[in-house]
Amino acid sequence: MGDGGDGDHGGDGDGGDDGGDGGGDGHESGESGGDGDTPGVAPSASMNAPVGIIGAGIVGIACALHLLRLGRRVIVIDRAGPAAGASQGNAGVLACCAMVPVPTPGVARHAPRMLFDRDGPLFLRWPYLPRLLPWLMPYTANARRARVQRIAAALAPLLVDSVSQHRALAGDGPAARRIRDSDYLFVYPNRAAFAAEKFAWDLRAAAGFAWEVIEGEAVREVEPALGAAHRFAVRLGGHACIASPGDYVAELAGEVTRGGGELLRAEVADIRPRGDGGDGGGVAILTRGGPAGGIEVAAAVIATGAWSGPLGRRFGANVPLESERGYHLHFRAATGAPRRPVMFAQRKAVATPMDGDLRLAGLVEFAGLRAPRRAAPLAMLRRAAHALLPGLRAESCDEWLGHRPATTDSLPLLGPSPRDARVFFACGHQHIGLTAAAKSGRLVARMICGRAPGLDMSPYRPDRGPIVQEATGATN
Ligand SMILES: Cc1cc2nc3c(=O)[nH]c(=O)nc-3n(C[C@H](O)[C@H](O)[C@H](O)COP(=O)(O)OP(=O)(O)OC[C@H]3O[C@@H](n4cnc5c(N)ncnc54)[C@H](O)[C@@H]3O)c2cc1C
Repeated sequence: MGDGGDGDHGGDGDGGDDGGDGGGDGHESGESGGDGDTPGVAPSASMNAPVGIIGAGIVGIACALHLLRLGRRVIVIDRAGPAAGASQGNAGVLACCAMVPVPTPGVARHAPRMLFDRDGPLFLRWPYLPRLLPWLMPYTANARRARVQRIAAALAPLLVDSVSQHRALAGDGPAARRIRDSDYLFVYPNRAAFAAEKFAWDLRAAAGFAWEVIEGEAVREVEPALGAAHRFAVRLGGHACIASPGDYVAELAGEVTRGGGELLRAEVADIRPRGDGGDGGGVAILTRGGPAGGIEVAAAVIATGAWSGPLGRRFGANVPLESERGYHLHFRAATGAPRRPVMFAQRKAVATPMDGDLRLAGLVEFAGLRAPRRAAPLAMLRRAAHALLPGLRAESCDEWLGHRPATTDSLPLLGPSPRDARVFFACGHQHIGLTAAAKSGRLVARMICGRAPGLDMSPYRPDRGPIVQEATGATN
């Protein structure tokens, strides 16, 4: 339930860590990947129409920038402006090692205890449960060991080179100065608590990650802000964090407009393909209160984060999407804060220093997209802040609720609609959307332009179904 790194709950004690050597060079030009170019979407014959990207979160903006660099025109449409959703308030960690999904073996056994522990990282608005069940059942079914291993293997290539992918995305524009190289510290009360997450750490090791173990008083030498209860830590190098994720997206959006792209403030109601596309026709994006005929584009990208469900279903996605609500406390002018991003593994909360401020973000709440911010998760985060960082003081503290777009198999939807090859998906990035966005945007942009993505995209197909297929004979 933590972001930027560590979804697991301890599971039943099996395995792994991360590392990874990156991969991908972050550059658009010249590269053709290994699997041959794809048809893509030609600029609409008559008009060299733009690609319309719906959603100006980090994923939509990354798609737009990569498309511009591939020579396409773009229009990005968002009802509330850049970074109005999860991309505003996340923990800001470029979590290369975050290939472990939230549901891991044992989740069904551990979830009730977490739900009834007021300091646990899981919250549920009980009247919402009947609506949650169709998503929750396949989600927990995907916690089987063999399925989690497949999920982690499919998430890894979106994550391991995320720092270089983001540097390439930001280029030499103003957003680049927000990317701070950093290590990433996971802290535990003791070695036994770490050992209980062996399954997760084994997955990270399988992805190529290595880490340094820090024990006893040495933990506070590395990170003096931590409370005395932390006697065990794991440090991973090669990560980074974003000093202010909302400003980062806004600055990248500025790059879109500087590059000739258009940003439009409007709520999208529908996408209407014109004909079957065979005659070079594009699609119309219909906005509320906008022109009756809609906005004419060559192709549309659904990048509306946790709000992608209705449009997604219309265009053939059969992987249910749910909001995994998360909260943050943002301490302004903070003292007694850690120097680097710290994952408090048992609370599933991440503390990230942000230019003199500190953001503590995390937990998972199931209550849907409409329920207002609730007191209990925020109270839990406040208690966590005091317990974990006893010397923390701040001038003020802001509270925030956001919606992580979570699929039942913890993998994003990336690629063309099975119903219409002019409509593309770029959504469903759950806890790792900031990290994966630069790569995902690049992959989707290349597919739209008919270039080989350079990665097997089948795990991210929008019509792959809710349950991960495992090899015959695999067991839980
Ligand atoms: C508490 C918390 C901490 C997190 N920490 C991390 C972290 O440290 N590292 C990490 O990698 N990830 C983290 N995440 C996850 C990450 O924030 C998300 O995965 C990511 O921001 C999703 O980006 P997005 O662009 O898909 O969606 P969003 O940022 O939600 O953007 C969707 C956009 O679509 C727009 N929109 C929706 N519907 C419409 C419509 N009909 N018409 C027009 N516009 C529309 C919205 O206004 C919004 O701007 C965290 C998330 C939370 C909640």
